[in-house]
Amino acid sequence: MRRALWILALLLPAVAAHPQDHAGPSVLAESYDWRTLESYQGQITRETFERRLRVLSPDGTMEGFLAYGGNSVSVLDTSRSAPVWSLSFAATAREKISYPRWPTDVLGSAEQPLKGLRICLDPGHIGGDWANLEERYFRIGKDKPVLEAELNMLTCRLLEGLLAADGAEVVWTKKDYEPVTPLRPQDLWIQWASIDWLAHGTPRDLRQLFSSTRKTNFETGWTAEKFFYRAAEIQARGERVRGLHPDLTLCVHYNAAPWRRAGRPSLMRVNKLVAFVHGSYTKEELEGEYSRFCLMRKLLEGSMETEIETASAIGNRLRQSWGWPAEDYDGFANRVNGNPYVWSRNLVANRTFPGPVVFVEGPYMNDRTIYQRLQAGDYEGEQEVAGVRCRSLFREYAEILHAGLLDIYGWKPEAEAPASR
Ligand SMILES: [Zn+2]
Repeated sequence: MRRALWILALLLPAVAAHPQDHAGPSVLAESYDWRTLESYQGQITRETFERRLRVLSPDGTMEGFLAYGGNSVSVLDTSRSAPVWSLSFAATAREKISYPRWPTDVLGSAEQPLKGLRICLDPGHIGGDWANLEERYFRIGKDKPVLEAELNMLTCRLLEGLLAADGAEVVWTKKDYEPVTPLRPQDLWIQWASIDWLAHGTPRDLRQLFSSTRKTNFETGWTAEKFFYRAAEIQARGERVRGLHPDLTLCVHYNAAPWRRAGRPSLMRVNKLVAFVHGSYTKEELEGEYSRFCLMRKLLEGSMETEIETASAIGNRLRQSWGWPAEDYDGFANRVNGNPYVWSRNLVANRTFPGPVVFVEGPYMNDRTIYQRLQAGDYEGEQEVAGVRCRSLFREYAEILHAGLLDIYGWKPEAEAPASR
């Protein structure tokens, strides 16, 4: 079955199918070529390789697909018998740092502490006419509807102002409420239907197959719509990031707790925060060669250290400024760097976007207090919301992200600059 799926993937290189990726994320995988990793030969030591591997595959699954030689390592095929690609390690500890990490790496000054830095903002979700389809919309009574894409966009616009004032160059994956991908759900049903067909021999209901993009694929649990707004859309954004060459990409989101009763929005008291870095591929995900390729590409591109440092700084700022509890995942993500707010997970965006990516999940939109602050919208100064005087939630969020970036990238007087490594 898996071989059949792989043949399908080859036939459809732009929108190849990888249903074995149960995190859902890479159902539409780009075509990949191990030879594109050749430029990384001799760049990192075995010690660095193993250190990064512990974040990417903390349960050791990837080790089972590796064979170490004298000063090299080979990645094995799915049967774990033949090498598909080999990497030579660097002989000495002198390693190329691919992305700036410390204030000394950027060209800032006291007036423009972020000058020389290019930050890519990725406001989460499509929004607009697509908000309902991507399940990032709710409305309670006659209140203003809550559209996560709009909250993310507003936060990113405020953040852009702060970053630009500090001299940073700000680029975007998207700035409106239209999909970046030219594909639409109706273009994607063939992928979803084909997987169903390969999994079950015959299409179970031809009429339904052709008439609906909403039917859930039995094998993947995905609909053609989900292919569209998650896989195809994020991949299109990834192409954009690839062309922009940012020093860091920041994915900005607001979170939500699952509804107590499906389809019946109601408010609760729950609010947690998290910043994700890339890692924690699961055993099931690593069954697929595409996932093993993605893991190796991320390991070798040299973004991990920058990503973790920046996520940790943002995590610290989340705690200092908001202090709401950190998420506590069990089993499918892992805490990183001893920071309770920083977790590693193999997400579509942080796997697909090249370079360091920090994916921040802000406050819960359906928390009782947060909801009222969202309803109050953005404003200057303070207002009374739910009986408490407070500033705009959007400005607080933008300022937290800005402060985290300043901690890592901002120019500082020499005495305050962290010792370079
Ligand atoms: Zn989101």
